[in-house]
Amino acid sequence: MSQPTKTSAQIQAMREGGRRLAQIFAELRDYVQPGMTELEIDAWVAEQIKEHGAEATYRTAEVGFPASICISVNDQIVHGVPTDYELAVGDVVSFDLVITYQGMKTDAAFTMVVGEAPRGAVKHLLTHTERSLMEAIAAIDGPCTTGDIGAAVESVLSRAKLGIIRELVGHGVGLEMHMPPEVPNWGRAGSGVQLHVGDTIAIEPMATLGGARIRTEDDDWTISTRDGSLAAHFEHTILITESGAEILTQL
Ligand code: MG
Repeated sequence: MSQPTKTSAQIQAMREGGRRLAQIFAELRDYVQPGMTELEIDAWVAEQIKEHGAEATYRTAEVGFPASICISVNDQIVHGVPTDYELAVGDVVSFDLVITYQGMKTDAAFTMVVGEAPRGAVKHLLTHTERSLMEAIAAIDGPCTTGDIGAAVESVLSRAKLGIIRELVGHGVGLEMHMPPEVPNWGRAGSGVQLHVGDTIAIEPMATLGGARIRTEDDDWTISTRDGSLAAHFEHTILITESGAEILTQL
């Protein structure tokens, strides 16, 4: 299914919103310290979003998430609900944020280690999950298919021998937080849905140090690995251009 055409003003709003999201993430990286609770961080992010003249999309009635940002710790993969849990040195934390700016939505995520530099297996997990995202984006040479993107992500993750979460996928984004097409983190080049110039999608590899199976926790939001292994998640919103992809959620 093709995405509805956006006006150049709508695309420009996504550019400006995406830059604001990236700015919030850059400051969040420095803000996060051991001993902070997830709820404290959520409140700080809510304040930043407001200062940027944007809206926390997750918190809107149509989404119904109970916070402004998803915070997923260790074996939690995505959609972690912030609680009074205090982050500890060495925790592997994923932040996933969608903001609405001038009516347009942008979506991004990153994973970091609290209070210390990533090392060993965790460093391997973070490095290669982020690399699968950046290599897939770099491989886009204009209008391609979702299978081209999935194949590029899968190739990096499988060479790194990481578990690939296949039950959760990237997606179209912009007019809505989640809209067609689905953008899986695996696939065959040339297969899937054809993308067009002006389409905006969120590419979001999720990988683990263990298996690929997932479970939903009792809060009905948080999705964790079934085997308890550590997970990572990196995401950008991109715009398909004539000859490549423009990353909207970076500075
Ligand atoms: Mg997303």
